[in-house]
Amino acid sequence: MNYPLEFQQQIFETLEKLASGGRFPHALIFEGPAGSGKKTAARYAASLLLCRENGVKPCGQCRSCKKQLENHPDFTVIEPKNKSKTISVDQIRDIKLSAYVAPHEADRKVYFIPDAHQLRVEAQNALLKLIEEPPEAARFILTVPSRSNLLETVISRSTVIPMRQLEQQQRLEVLKSLSDKKYADQLQQLSQDCLTVGEALAALSDPDAMKLSKDADELLKSVISGKRYDALILLCRYEKDREQYIKLFNTMRGQVISALCRRDSKLSALRANKIIDIIDKTVFSATQNAALSLLSAASANRLIAAALSALK
Ligand SMILES: [Zn+2]
Repeated sequence: MNYPLEFQQQIFETLEKLASGGRFPHALIFEGPAGSGKKTAARYAASLLLCRENGVKPCGQCRSCKKQLENHPDFTVIEPKNKSKTISVDQIRDIKLSAYVAPHEADRKVYFIPDAHQLRVEAQNALLKLIEEPPEAARFILTVPSRSNLLETVISRSTVIPMRQLEQQQRLEVLKSLSDKKYADQLQQLSQDCLTVGEALAALSDPDAMKLSKDADELLKSVISGKRYDALILLCRYEKDREQYIKLFNTMRGQVISALCRRDSKLSALRANKIIDIIDKTVFSATQNAALSLLSAASANRLIAAALSALK
């Protein structure tokens, strides 16, 4: 069987087992850093649920499978609609109305929230009520960089599937197999700087992604060396765009994990975990519409305190 991402094969196999055993959870959350394949896995899960064939799913042949997911009447994507780039409680209330209506074509209705860390707290609570007493045919699929982006009550009612993390050498091998030979020189460095294959591929083709990765690296260096002013100047450039601001922190999160995996001597495991915790709280506050300039000041202080603390 050829899966959309070979290096995440185990996850696809798990999904197939869940679907064929009729045990597919009402709420499924894929957790992993940008570029780890969460959205690909989520879309695969949706096609498994919508396939109308009784045998091997997704069959690729039935009416459901032949349709693009986007055009499928039983597939709904929930994304931010407002300027603040968050998902509002009204958007979840709208789903509630439709979730109790029988599916149009398939046996299930799939609601996909690709950036669930953008859910406002009130929206998460509304979603929680839906998951607690789920409409028979509805299935909810979410993706997040980290489970700490969501309320614990939502997590405890859902099945969380962490995406497989590759070692640097494995990332390099996958990158070599996926990218053009002309990039061979850059792959070694990218496999070290980027935590995921997807992020490295994005950086290869997109100057903005490369810049984000460089800025996140610079921010992390400022934090580790206690340069508060440098960190604030950098953050200030991102405060105009909340989405990019959140991306910057999530990219830095990936780099901290990457440094941890490399056993980078500048960052002990305890310090790294403390920093990840502060990053998660910052992303959460940024999503909940906190004033970014105040958030930058508070987070820079906390990050530096964590990086320079006496923790070993
Ligand atoms: Zn099918």
